[in-house]
Amino acid sequence: MNGVEMQKVLVADDDAVNREVLGELLKPEYTVLLAKNGAQTLERAARHLPDLILLDVMMPDMDGYEVLRRLRADAQTAHIAVIFISGLDRPEDEANGLKMGASDYITKPFNQTVVMARVALHLQVVRQRRMLERLANIDSLTELANRRRFDEVYALEWQRARRAGRPLSLALLDIDAFKQYNDRYGHPAGDRALRAVARLAAGSMRRPGDLAARYGGEEIVLLLPETGAPEARQVVEQLREAVAGLTIAHEASSVAPVLTASVGGVTLEPGGLEAASELFEAADAQLYRAKQAGRNRVLWREPDGAASSLESPRP
Ligand code: GH3
Ligand code: MG
Ligand code: MG
Repeated sequence: MNGVEMQKVLVADDDAVNREVLGELLKPEYTVLLAKNGAQTLERAARHLPDLILLDVMMPDMDGYEVLRRLRADAQTAHIAVIFISGLDRPEDEANGLKMGASDYITKPFNQTVVMARVALHLQVVRQRRMLERLANIDSLTELANRRRFDEVYALEWQRARRAGRPLSLALLDIDAFKQYNDRYGHPAGDRALRAVARLAAGSMRRPGDLAARYGGEEIVLLLPETGAPEARQVVEQLREAVAGLTIAHEASSVAPVLTASVGGVTLEPGGLEAASELFEAADAQLYRAKQAGRNRVLWREPDGAASSLESPRP
């Protein structure tokens, strides 16, 4: 949420008057979407990913309980907050709705002020949950995704690549002689250098599915779904050049007079059978080779298991 963009509320009710009244009520504060039956609710929820759904329980094609069950069953819509709004006003109905996972239950006839207050409350909860999720997935020093986030995304992307028979590239970047850098320039300067490298790594990710994450101390992992080896190597080689191009003085390095990084990479080719962990270890092995070979270079595993380097110029 950037504070300017309005949160989205989907109003699902088979009664046109209710839709109209609720829609008009919410419009000044939220982006309002309308659905007149269960099927439309599911379709609009999946398409627009609203922050909240005001869901009528009794609708002719599919009742609200079933809509909620289906929303929860789909990973994409599973976390959308739902408030039931229903003419069923017995305590058991209300309790039942809440047990099913609705955030709240409003009975008809509803009071407009109360509806607005409850919607605002639950949207605030949604914002807070998003913020917590964000914090749990982000490394505070570099603001890159953290390892926990990477592990999650990597598992999904690996599965997706295997299932769809699409390539998946993975690279590990490690700053060269970073211990000496800290020793020479101090830990705060080391942190600044690490942040600068992280910014370049984040900036080198072009597609929506690309991910740069801080894997460990001064190790950054790059995940490039749908990206074959030649293209991935090019992205990563440009990143390596850009790191040296920062020209952060590193007088204690035996590699170059400036801060550099080494990268090892692999591509899971369509039809490839390696486990996610094997693929990761293979990238790590290439990183190790890049270090052994003199650092400040990118080594990529060749399809036959051999490795080769793009030119590795010295800055
Ligand atoms: P190599 O070229 O083989 O990678 O040598 P290196 O010195 O970079 O490798 P090593 O893994 O031995 O040391 C990594 C160093 O990175 C150790 C640690 O002090 C430093 N480091 C790790 N995380 C941070 C961090 O968050 N901030 C700073 N300033 N330094 C860090
Ligand atoms: Mg290092
Ligand atoms: Mg390291």
